[in-house]
Amino acid sequence: MNLEQQIFEIYKKTVNQCSNQEIYSALLKIVEEEGKKRQEEEGKKKVYYLSAEFLIGKLLSNNLINLGIYDEVTRVLAENGRDICEIEEIEPEPSLGNGGLGRLAACFLDSMATLGLNGDGIGLNYHFGLFKQTFKDHLQAEDPNPWIEPDTWLNRTEVTYPVTFGSLTVRSRMYDIGVTGYQGRTNKLHLFDLETIDEELIEDGIAFDKEAVKKNLTLFLYPDDSDEAGRKLRIYQQYFMVSSAAQYILDECVKKGCRLYDLPDYAVIQINDTHPSMVIPELIRLLTLRGIPFEKAAEIVSRTCAYTNHTILAEALEKWPMEYLEEAVPQLVPVIEKLDKQIRKSYKDPAVAIIDEKDLVHMAHMDIHYGFSVNGVAYLHTEILKKSELKKFYDIYPEKFSNKTNGITFRRWLLHCNPRLSELIASRIGEGYKKDAMELEKLAAFDDEATLKAILDIKKQNKTALKKYLMSTQETDIDENSIYDIQIKRLHEYKRQQMNALYVIHKYLEIKRGNLPARPVTVIFGAKAAPAYVIAKDIIHLILCLQELVNNDPQVSPYLKVVMVENYNVSKAEKLIPACDISQQISLASKEASGTGNMKFMLNGAVTLGTMDGANVEIAELVGKDNIYIFGESSEKVIQHYTKADYVAKEYYKEDAQIREALDFMVGAEMTSIGHKENLKRLYDEILKKDWFMTLLDYKAYEEARERIYRDYEDSFAWAKKMLVNISKAGYFSSDRTILEYNRDIWKL
Ligand SMILES: *Cc1c(COP(=O)(O)O)cnc(C)c1O
Repeated sequence: MNLEQQIFEIYKKTVNQCSNQEIYSALLKIVEEEGKKRQEEEGKKKVYYLSAEFLIGKLLSNNLINLGIYDEVTRVLAENGRDICEIEEIEPEPSLGNGGLGRLAACFLDSMATLGLNGDGIGLNYHFGLFKQTFKDHLQAEDPNPWIEPDTWLNRTEVTYPVTFGSLTVRSRMYDIGVTGYQGRTNKLHLFDLETIDEELIEDGIAFDKEAVKKNLTLFLYPDDSDEAGRKLRIYQQYFMVSSAAQYILDECVKKGCRLYDLPDYAVIQINDTHPSMVIPELIRLLTLRGIPFEKAAEIVSRTCAYTNHTILAEALEKWPMEYLEEAVPQLVPVIEKLDKQIRKSYKDPAVAIIDEKDLVHMAHMDIHYGFSVNGVAYLHTEILKKSELKKFYDIYPEKFSNKTNGITFRRWLLHCNPRLSELIASRIGEGYKKDAMELEKLAAFDDEATLKAILDIKKQNKTALKKYLMSTQETDIDENSIYDIQIKRLHEYKRQQMNALYVIHKYLEIKRGNLPARPVTVIFGAKAAPAYVIAKDIIHLILCLQELVNNDPQVSPYLKVVMVENYNVSKAEKLIPACDISQQISLASKEASGTGNMKFMLNGAVTLGTMDGANVEIAELVGKDNIYIFGESSEKVIQHYTKADYVAKEYYKEDAQIREALDFMVGAEMTSIGHKENLKRLYDEILKKDWFMTLLDYKAYEEARERIYRDYEDSFAWAKKMLVNISKAGYFSSDRTILEYNRDIWKL
């Protein structure tokens, strides 16, 4: 590839005569062409990864890396006085996902292509994606997040399908994004869009007419579902996705010679959480329309579909009122009723039925009965599914259950986001780790002074880079010599950002009393809250008020800073994670299914402060207790508290002066003079009177562990050894390993 020549052919100009925008457009075309050369012969069987979200992040640099031309492109640009980072800034981040589940889907696409597996993603092409977050008046505000520009990775195809909702029929059209693996093949992400979409429907912020289904289906990901119209719209969107997907999958298989009876030899459909569950009754319906008897169709589909469970939070296991389905997708109702009848005939326990006594359809139950595989996403999570949440199903189908601990693609989360560290690693153990992440283990032997010093130096450089970035994007000045203590993830009570904030209050008051920390601390948050999730938004409000209070207090700010990063997304994560010292993974034990943020931080040499939850359990096992800071009640104890209903937040408040002081501060004069009394008081009451996710239960243990980790940070060589161990043990969390396990146990391509 000769970049200069190709650019000349496109523009009749030299590289240094081109604008950054022109260079970006040219690179986009070049990458697409190179990627196409790697499209391979379709094997007989293919995985279709169905997901409402694909949080893919910017694609340019990752594609250049995977094509093996990143270094060359960077060099040519540099020779022409251009910086690849400035070109990267031009690309908008596709806004097709929300959090961990969507990011996982993106990592899986990368790994499937890297490993040479025949596997495509299927989802929706949301025009405004997940909302863009801004902060106004110390509150989260939501704006549309347009990301589709004339220069785009999306390729319009001629594939279109009718999708029928009762008396309304709309048309979907498929758009494709190429997914090129690292030294691997090119697969596809298929995104269905509504032909009659109307962007003009958007009113104020992210509000729009939710009932205008003919015009709105692919406007936003997860529109507000706090009202009935919003909940119905979710059903319309889901069916639009799975009906298009099912028609496409059948067409593709038939083209390859599939007789439909042998569909499981051609297709395996991985259902990512319950959003795509309606693909099961839809496929059965389509097969019966093509002449296959119902029982046989159900059996064929059961051997084709596999389900991944991502959460045990009750509110996330979707249950749709039959009444809504009758309105939106009447053609599926008789199918679901028949499936429910079959199950009720075989199993007397109503708890495993598909339709319950309130006429709610349990999507996960349908997935488990009519799929051949059920997997959890980390060891502990799968154990909890088997022993409690889904025990009744595990008793029926023990052979269907397995664990597939999540992973992350090292191409994005190390090679791309932390080139300094990647280079150091390569200088010690060679390039092999880029293909086989387990080779990172070799790094553990390099605990010599020079390597440890290099690791510390790189962290310092990354911290300085983040300082500059925050200065230019948010006008926030942080101290690169401080400890960067980071919690970035979706805002949810179970993740307990409020516990972190209570500690910040405590620390603020300590500094006011003259108890100064050995080293300044910068506490960084990044999180979006669902637009209708009131308490989550109140927690953001609390953090924004603390940011204002702490950073503007001349007595405190030299020792403590609070930064709430606006509009947390993949691009921001790529800048924050390499600069992190302490990774906050403090969910209430049993509630975080896996977490993948925890893996990204570890890989980049941050040390985890966390509970024994999700994949933290496996991280702890791998790095050993000296290289992770674990605190808090175990998942067994927490589950017991729920069973016995014996956790009373107020008792902790009464018994502990420090907790009382921190909580009362939330609604005291300093805070209410900055923020809104109503929001602060509502959060205060929530924690004091309810605290469903048991913040106060673990607060003291958290504070103790946090002080301990800060103390230990001061011994920099001992700290660098912890960093080294974390990096060297991160290989297990490569999504390549996860995908190999999916293929070995479930897909069998
Ligand atoms: C990795 C990632 C997540 C998931 O983070 P968790 O800490 O596992 O919840 C969410 N959002 C973005 C942008 C990510 O990159």
